[in-house]
Amino acid sequence: MLIALLPGDGIGPEVIAEARRVLDSLAIPDLQFETAVVGGAAYKAKGHPLPPETLDLAKRADAILFGAVGDPDCDKLDRHLRPEQAILGLRKELNLFANLRPAKLFPELADASALRPEVATQIDMVIIRELNGDVYFGEKGMRKTASGLREGYDVMSYNEDEVRRIARVGFETARARKGKLCSVDKANVLETSQLWRDVVIETHAEFADIELSHMYVDNAAMQLVRNPGQFDVIVTGNLFGDILSDQASMCAGSIGMLPSASLDANQKGLYEPIHGSAPDIAGQGKANPLATILSAAMMLRYSLNQAAIADRIEAAVAKALANGARSPDLGGKMSTREMGDAVLAAF
Ligand code: NAD
Repeated sequence: MLIALLPGDGIGPEVIAEARRVLDSLAIPDLQFETAVVGGAAYKAKGHPLPPETLDLAKRADAILFGAVGDPDCDKLDRHLRPEQAILGLRKELNLFANLRPAKLFPELADASALRPEVATQIDMVIIRELNGDVYFGEKGMRKTASGLREGYDVMSYNEDEVRRIARVGFETARARKGKLCSVDKANVLETSQLWRDVVIETHAEFADIELSHMYVDNAAMQLVRNPGQFDVIVTGNLFGDILSDQASMCAGSIGMLPSASLDANQKGLYEPIHGSAPDIAGQGKANPLATILSAAMMLRYSLNQAAIADRIEAAVAKALANGARSPDLGGKMSTREMGDAVLAAF
């Protein structure tokens, strides 16, 4: 099994190094690693944020463990050369259409949530966001209106195949959990959402054992902070998912705690912490590596068929937290390396 390690920029290499130490310590048979540059580091070394050899490695690998991209030095480059284009390019080239973000609060971190502890401790959900369609990929541009005003436009659309395949991921994920799927749309206003809702209802026929509900996105945003415990699995489009998944993750504690997976139709995936390259703390040993270590656990579970080892990693993270491991974002003083040490010690 080949793992592509793409550390990227800023704190990316720091947090990937700790995930690598955890994976190495588990001595998983047949696990090999190859590292490649991506993002601003790749632009500086090779003139492109996603060089052909990095894309080739990502395609050859069984799974990709990604740090983060983003470099203030590159902010003035043409958009197609900016570091962030690497992640969009990987999603598109590898057809990674399903973004899974578990949001679960470790009880030890109840105080770190933006919500009251008694509400926050109820959070245990997975948000599934469609990644390859919607308004982000539709026709877009700038034009002048008949009266000469500047006008920007971005076309929102989904076809039924795109909705069906993400709906199936939603139903299957719910089946492996508590059996409840909530589909989030804006079908009262948008035609795209009406089709979304119709196709989700049709697909439900294949998953009659799952309890399906529908919610408008504005209500979902409100319910996520009012009563997050009601959700098991949420499935939604690219735009709504972008916003709701960030909201849910902050309800569940620090941005340094949350992993994610982006999967194709064959469970090949790219695994990354939800945070960015954090240039404000890069190189200072202040980054919390737990989101990346938990992303490695997701990789073992979803792409490498190693659920038992994934369970061990998640349990070790919980134990490290219970033992008092706290990086600065969690209100403590431990360095990135010391947080990694705490997880290793907890095995
Ligand atoms: P960010 O997630 O990098 O940082 C937001 C805040 O959270 C910062 O104060 C940072 O110090 C803190 N933080 C983030 N991760 C942390 C960690 N592991 N431990 C402790 N604190 C942590 O978001 P931003 O500042 O908006 O963006 C910085 C750069 O990252 C930008 O170039 C942006 O485009 C990029 N970005 C990349 C990705 C990605 O690679 N998938 C995602 C988001 C942002």
